[in-house]
Amino acid sequence: MNRVRVRIAPSPTGDPHVGTAYIALFNYVFAKKNNGDFIIRIEDTDRERFNATSEIAILKYLKWLGLHWVEGPDVEGSVGPYRQSERGDIYKKYVDELLEKNTAYKCFCSSERLTELRETQRSKGLPPGYDGRCRNLSKLDLENNASNNLPYTVRLRMPSTGQTIVKDLLRGDVTFDNIKMDDQVLFKSDGMPTYHMANVVDDHLMNITHVIRAEEWIPSTPKHIILYSALGWKEPVWIHMPLLRNSDKSKISKRKNDVSLEHYFNEGYLKESMLNFLALMGWHPDGHTEVFTVEEMADKFDFAKVHLGSPIFNVAKLNWINREHMKNKSLDELIQLATPFYKEAGFSVEEGQLRKVISTLRDGVDTFKDLVAKSSPFLKSSLENFQALSDVEQEKAKSIFQREETPRVIEMFLDKLANNPLSTDEDGKIIIESMKADLELGPGKILPVIRLLSTGHLKGPEIFKVITTIPKDELGRRAKEFIDHVS
Ligand code: GLU
Repeated sequence: MNRVRVRIAPSPTGDPHVGTAYIALFNYVFAKKNNGDFIIRIEDTDRERFNATSEIAILKYLKWLGLHWVEGPDVEGSVGPYRQSERGDIYKKYVDELLEKNTAYKCFCSSERLTELRETQRSKGLPPGYDGRCRNLSKLDLENNASNNLPYTVRLRMPSTGQTIVKDLLRGDVTFDNIKMDDQVLFKSDGMPTYHMANVVDDHLMNITHVIRAEEWIPSTPKHIILYSALGWKEPVWIHMPLLRNSDKSKISKRKNDVSLEHYFNEGYLKESMLNFLALMGWHPDGHTEVFTVEEMADKFDFAKVHLGSPIFNVAKLNWINREHMKNKSLDELIQLATPFYKEAGFSVEEGQLRKVISTLRDGVDTFKDLVAKSSPFLKSSLENFQALSDVEQEKAKSIFQREETPRVIEMFLDKLANNPLSTDEDGKIIIESMKADLELGPGKILPVIRLLSTGHLKGPEIFKVITTIPKDELGRRAKEFIDHVS
């Protein structure tokens, strides 16, 4: 068998989409499993929808995910260039060949005529499509049009009888009636190929063996098959992955989900979690394992195990997976990965303090952004945190401070702080337990007071953890400042 070569072919028209990463992942693991090549080709022939920053962002976030490609717009290879806009000359030759073979024809219909045609079809409730006016122009007409320099497009001449079968590795044979398919434009009057033409020519010239793409491209595939056969080329293996969906099963969309990879990067998901989550959209290693790495996936990957249901993009599941992958990280690694998020939020924290905070919070957060948000009780003063509470919460905090026994609790807490060690969880527990015993009060009377003095908050992690996470002298300072301003 030929060396396996697969590609993704994103169009740089907008934000780097999670769907691109999902398809890239399946291409990547398939290449890895088969010691093949995963490449990136940029399909930028649609100049109207082209967005100059989109390609940079797509490559940036695929790189973040570690989906390494061996050839692409930024990695030279033997079959480049890897941007279709730089391959203009290549397509013309094949379009001429199709015209010669009469598998394609020149269409001189103006865009006004085509708009009118579409409108008439719509008003009559007919399916949209080209009516074939230029399909059989006489030689004379063609010569006249050429001598008048009339602009033209080139259309694929779809067979008017028979069927085209897409042999999809996941779905079996998908059959299309040729008569129902439109004479697709292959070459536009601006001299640019369309998606269909450029995609087929490039996949052939780039020696792509397997086309792994989303199921929304299935209706295009019979047209591609006709092009392969007209050009005398062997078609690749077709694999159409199920589309990612919103929870109502509609195609995943911006309105119902965050679809930009940039969003997930900025929220602080681990790349391992993103990949694991996207993998589960189409594949399970077995009936029960849900947490795995991309290497484990590549090792076991087999298209036979891809499921064709409608995968729902469920962020709650992603959060769960992220927590699981966070558990597998060393504290050092978490500190390193989380530091930019603290900086971004304006905290300049010293590593020892960060170490304590992260080890306290690491098992209870969804993302790094969540970690930073939950860190503020530890990193900002109690007074600052208190001032950020809602009016209702501030009133509640004040009422705790006005309780009859609170002065005794405060006094004893400061005393315990001054006279006891407080570096381990055990130290924290001893202080709390001894306060309960000495004051003969229940936890409801003591703990909220300590929490407010230490963090200015009414809720948070277990109190013994809170007081051991903040350096002891800092605790004393916070408590005093809080008492001066709040009680
Ligand atoms: N340019 C198409 C896209 O934006 C590529 C589809 C394919 O993989 O053939 O997804």
